[in-house]
Amino acid sequence: MPFCYKCGAQIGEGDRFCNKCGTKVGEQIISQPVVSPTVGTSGVAIAALVLGLLGFPLGWFLGLVPIGAIICGLVGIQETGIGKKGGRGMAIAGLALGCVTLLGWAMLISMAIIFWD
Ligand SMILES: [Zn+2]
Repeated sequence: MPFCYKCGAQIGEGDRFCNKCGTKVGEQIISQPVVSPTVGTSGVAIAALVLGLLGFPLGWFLGLVPIGAIICGLVGIQETGIGKKGGRGMAIAGLALGCVTLLGWAMLISMAIIFWD
Protein backbone atom coordinates (compact mmCIF):
# COMPACT_ATOMS: atom_id res chain seq x y z
CA MET A 1 0.00 0.00 0.00
CA PRO A 2 1.53 3.38 -0.96
CA PHE A 3 1.66 6.34 1.35
CA CYS A 4 1.47 10.05 0.59
CA TYR A 5 4.99 11.49 0.74
CA LYS A 6 3.63 14.86 1.93
CA CYS A 7 1.25 14.01 4.75
CA GLY A 8 1.89 10.30 5.24
CA ALA A 9 -1.72 9.25 4.70
CA GLN A 10 -2.41 5.87 3.17
CA ILE A 11 -3.37 5.97 -0.49
CA GLY A 12 -5.54 3.45 -2.26
CA GLU A 13 -3.91 1.35 -4.98
CA GLY A 14 -5.84 3.00 -7.82
CA ASP A 15 -5.89 6.55 -6.40
CA ARG A 16 -4.16 9.28 -8.35
CA PHE A 17 -4.45 11.87 -5.58
CA CYS A 18 -4.08 11.78 -1.80
CA ASN A 19 -7.50 11.79 -0.09
CA LYS A 20 -6.20 13.85 2.84
CA CYS A 21 -4.11 16.63 1.26
CA GLY A 22 -4.75 16.27 -2.45
CA THR A 23 -1.11 15.68 -3.41
CA LYS A 24 -0.69 13.93 -6.73
CA VAL A 25 0.45 10.35 -6.19
CA GLY A 26 3.72 9.60 -7.91
CA GLU A 27 4.65 13.28 -8.06
CA GLN A 28 7.75 12.64 -5.99
CA ILE A 29 9.09 10.14 -8.50
CA ILE A 30 8.40 12.44 -11.47
CA SER A 31 9.86 15.55 -9.85
CA GLN A 32 13.00 13.76 -8.65
CA PRO A 33 15.99 15.16 -10.52
CA VAL A 34 18.03 12.81 -12.64
CA VAL A 35 21.43 12.45 -10.99
CA SER A 36 24.06 13.02 -13.63
CA PRO A 37 27.43 11.28 -13.20
CA THR A 38 29.22 14.11 -14.98
CA VAL A 39 29.91 17.32 -13.08
CA GLY A 40 30.18 19.31 -16.30
CA THR A 41 33.01 20.79 -18.27
CA SER A 42 34.99 23.74 -16.97
CA GLY A 43 34.29 26.86 -19.00
CA VAL A 44 37.71 28.23 -18.05
CA ALA A 45 39.37 25.13 -19.54
CA ILE A 46 37.50 25.66 -22.83
CA ALA A 47 38.51 29.34 -22.79
CA ALA A 48 42.15 28.32 -22.26
CA LEU A 49 42.10 26.04 -25.29
CA VAL A 50 40.33 28.63 -27.47
CA LEU A 51 42.75 31.38 -26.43
CA GLY A 52 45.67 28.98 -26.87
CA LEU A 53 44.60 28.23 -30.43
CA LEU A 54 43.88 31.90 -31.15
CA GLY A 55 47.27 32.78 -29.72
CA PHE A 56 49.03 31.19 -32.69
CA PRO A 57 47.69 33.55 -35.36
CA LEU A 58 47.01 36.48 -33.02
CA GLY A 59 49.76 36.10 -30.44
CA TRP A 60 52.34 37.73 -32.65
CA PHE A 61 50.33 40.93 -32.60
CA LEU A 62 48.53 40.61 -29.29
CA GLY A 63 50.64 39.28 -26.46
CA LEU A 64 47.58 39.34 -24.23
CA VAL A 65 46.00 36.36 -26.03
CA PRO A 66 48.63 33.77 -25.00
CA ILE A 67 48.87 35.38 -21.53
CA GLY A 68 45.09 34.92 -21.24
CA ALA A 69 45.49 31.30 -22.36
CA ILE A 70 48.13 30.69 -19.65
CA ILE A 71 45.98 32.29 -16.93
CA CYS A 72 42.86 30.38 -18.06
CA GLY A 73 44.93 27.19 -18.30
CA LEU A 74 46.19 27.53 -14.72
CA VAL A 75 42.70 28.36 -13.41
CA GLY A 76 41.28 25.50 -15.52
CA ILE A 77 43.73 23.00 -14.03
CA GLN A 78 42.74 24.15 -10.53
CA GLU A 79 39.05 23.87 -11.42
CA THR A 80 39.23 20.41 -13.02
CA GLY A 81 40.26 16.99 -11.76
CA ILE A 82 38.85 13.91 -10.02
CA GLY A 83 35.45 14.73 -8.55
CA LYS A 84 35.68 18.19 -10.07
CA LYS A 85 34.76 19.57 -13.48
CA GLY A 86 35.96 17.98 -16.70
CA GLY A 87 38.20 19.52 -19.34
CA ARG A 88 41.59 19.20 -17.65
CA GLY A 89 43.17 18.14 -20.97
CA MET A 90 41.85 21.28 -22.63
CA ALA A 91 43.20 23.45 -19.81
CA ILE A 92 46.66 21.84 -20.11
CA ALA A 93 46.61 22.15 -23.93
CA GLY A 94 45.63 25.82 -23.65
CA LEU A 95 48.37 26.46 -21.09
CA ALA A 96 50.98 24.72 -23.28
CA LEU A 97 49.88 26.56 -26.42
CA GLY A 98 49.93 29.85 -24.54
CA CYS A 99 53.47 29.19 -23.25
CA VAL A 100 54.79 28.18 -26.69
CA THR A 101 53.20 31.20 -28.39
CA LEU A 102 54.37 33.61 -25.70
CA LEU A 103 57.91 32.17 -25.87
CA GLY A 104 58.02 32.55 -29.65
CA TRP A 105 56.56 36.01 -29.36
CA ALA A 106 59.13 37.02 -26.70
CA MET A 107 61.94 35.61 -28.89
CA LEU A 108 60.75 37.67 -31.85
CA ILE A 109 60.73 40.84 -29.75
CA SER A 110 64.22 40.05 -28.37
CA MET A 111 65.48 39.50 -31.93
CA ALA A 112 63.95 42.83 -32.98
CA ILE A 113 65.66 44.59 -30.06
CA ILE A 114 69.02 42.86 -30.73
CA PHE A 115 68.99 43.74 -34.42
CA TRP A 116 67.69 47.27 -33.75
CA ASP A 117 71.16 48.81 -33.49
ZN1 LIG B 1 -1.35 13.57 1.48
